[in-house]
Amino acid sequence: MKKSTDDIQDIDSDLEKLANDMFETMYIADGIGLAANQVGVSKSLIVIDTSAATKKNDPKYILINPQILETSEETNEYQEGCLSVPKFFEDVIRPKKIKVRFWDLKGKEFNIEADETLARVMQHEIDHLNGILFYERLTPIRRTLSKSKLSRIRKRQTKPDYEMVYE
Ligand code: ZN
Repeated sequence: MKKSTDDIQDIDSDLEKLANDMFETMYIADGIGLAANQVGVSKSLIVIDTSAATKKNDPKYILINPQILETSEETNEYQEGCLSVPKFFEDVIRPKKIKVRFWDLKGKEFNIEADETLARVMQHEIDHLNGILFYERLTPIRRTLSKSKLSRIRKRQTKPDYEMVYE
């Protein structure tokens, strides 16, 4: 999880199966995004469905080799959680909007602008692909205050309510 993933060279049917399995894992754990390395696969692939957070019928996203091209100056604060960091929720400041490039399962390239929840989840998940966990983005004071909680998580003393892949 702390390692960065490899870019995907060939888009094949295995990738579609991986994405479907990841959606399933994500829904079981009540998540809104999941990166492949969170399930032990070192590939640059992300699945996202923000519907549970926005209470809308949002589109599902499968992002292959996603890259953030631009971030807005404007930031916002949003409480994040992570399936790989069980039972820990904390506010994180990030750019409010991003421009992101990715490919889909058909190999089609997309350049989109994401805002609000979608931008937030994309940044969190792209961080995963680069081996960064969200608590590394906390302000120093919040990180200090969360020290004991995070240390229990790292020692695996905090048990998630779902099956977790440890690396
Ligand atoms: Zn996460």
